[in-house]
Amino acid sequence: MDAKEFCEFGKATLEYMADYTENLRDRNVLPSVKPGYLNELLPREAPIKGESWKEVLKDVERVIMPGVSHWNSPHFHAYFPTGNSYPAIIGEIVSAGIGCIGFSWMSSPACTELEVITMNWLGKMLNLPEEFLNCSEGPGGGVIQGSASEATLICLLAAKERTTRRLKEEHPDWNDATIKSKLVAYASDQSNSSVEKAGLLGSMTMRLLPADEKCRLRGSTLLEAMRKDEEAGLVPCYVVATLGTTGTCAYDCLDELGPICNENNVWLHVDAAYAGAALACPEFRHLMPGIKFADSFSFNPHKWMLVNFDCSALWVKNSRYLIDAANVDRVYLAHGHEDKAPDYRHWQIPLGRRFRSLKLWFVMRIYGVEGIQKYIRGSVKLARYFENLVRYDNRFEIVADVTLGLVCFRIKGDNSLTNELLERLTARRQIYVIPATYMGKTIVRFVVCSQNCEEKDVEFAWNEITTQTTEIFKSQIEASAVLEDRSIEIRTIITEKPLENLTDKLLDLEITSSVKNSPTIS
Ligand code: PLP
Repeated sequence: MDAKEFCEFGKATLEYMADYTENLRDRNVLPSVKPGYLNELLPREAPIKGESWKEVLKDVERVIMPGVSHWNSPHFHAYFPTGNSYPAIIGEIVSAGIGCIGFSWMSSPACTELEVITMNWLGKMLNLPEEFLNCSEGPGGGVIQGSASEATLICLLAAKERTTRRLKEEHPDWNDATIKSKLVAYASDQSNSSVEKAGLLGSMTMRLLPADEKCRLRGSTLLEAMRKDEEAGLVPCYVVATLGTTGTCAYDCLDELGPICNENNVWLHVDAAYAGAALACPEFRHLMPGIKFADSFSFNPHKWMLVNFDCSALWVKNSRYLIDAANVDRVYLAHGHEDKAPDYRHWQIPLGRRFRSLKLWFVMRIYGVEGIQKYIRGSVKLARYFENLVRYDNRFEIVADVTLGLVCFRIKGDNSLTNELLERLTARRQIYVIPATYMGKTIVRFVVCSQNCEEKDVEFAWNEITTQTTEIFKSQIEASAVLEDRSIEIRTIITEKPLENLTDKLLDLEITSSVKNSPTIS
């Protein structure tokens, strides 16, 4: 492919993607394909002769799109948002075009230096404590990871290294293996699955402690668990506090957990994967007090800050611990400028790294802080609008406080009603929402995800939800009516037929528990 063809291909692809984005509303948010669908559409072997780019691009629509779940559709309300915007996509193209691997300053100075600068911009925008920034006097700094999962794992490894060094000084007769077998990590039972996984991959016991009735991890719960472990000869090492839990967007009580961790030499990592972006707006900062106690803080611009996956921001107060945990040097990696700029390979799991700061830079420059704040506030406003719609209909109840872009609700009454609603919505593929559980109750999580979501999309979703709910209640009423008819029949049987026929007749009636539990409709 020469440059001329590259430009034609690029232009056609950008036009196709712009058209895709602008008309996403018209596609079903979920695909209807069955597992293995693509095998039917693509050949078993790679083509021997190269094909034209036009054929390939046509096949994106023909074979790929039918199997895509449209995460950026304004009708996608599941999980948490995945960031997307035109400036970020272009940043990604430039990054791919340059195609450098920035494992050290020398391997591509701009790659390291732009990351340092954008992470400082970002940290200041969120109003993080100075100590976290590369531009502060101390050893703190920010780095872009591929995911919040990696951030949690790399900080666990740093915490392990820090504690091991400390214990070796305190107990010169203990060896590494003895120390590492004693270390314990803690998080709440509401933390993301990636937190438990970090414990697994990092070979550290991860205790998932019970959250309170607001789904928050409290200081007293942590302290009790730590004391119990210490009595058993174990050593508390690492705590992951979540700001904005995946289930209900709850906030662990950092101002209680922080002092406990600081006083006990326990590394406190904050996972604010989704909610962290809201710190860009001063009015949401009160939701997340106590960040100053943390040793590390991470959030995902690739969730709620318009940057496409992957771009997870991590700051640490002392980068030395990361470097100690992950520093493996070779002569071919040395370059003589090590003390002047970070060699980011020590701050992450892989050696190679992409030029991810470009997309962050494009987004921050083209939207500006004000544009990002406007976007965050817009999502919260739409969530409040949806919350009001739910509150207005007394068939439903709101579960958990609505603080940002997530609304948790359910149909009042038995869980089977909400389960049926979820099943119907998924089968119809018009909107996408997913369940969670809250104190034993099934709930629907409704998240304002797409950057293109508007009031009319919230109304579309609400219409879909209420129509399906009405259908559920209608079928309940019909079933109740059948039941009523049958009970007249039973009375007739009881009065007219001999007793031995009664059991068989009753079994015919197929009385289900969901019908018996049917709520009244107001
Ligand atoms: N932490 C929280 C609170 C999350 O909600 C999620 C994903 O939704 C993650 C971590 C995992 O994020 P990532 O996919 O970037 O690892």
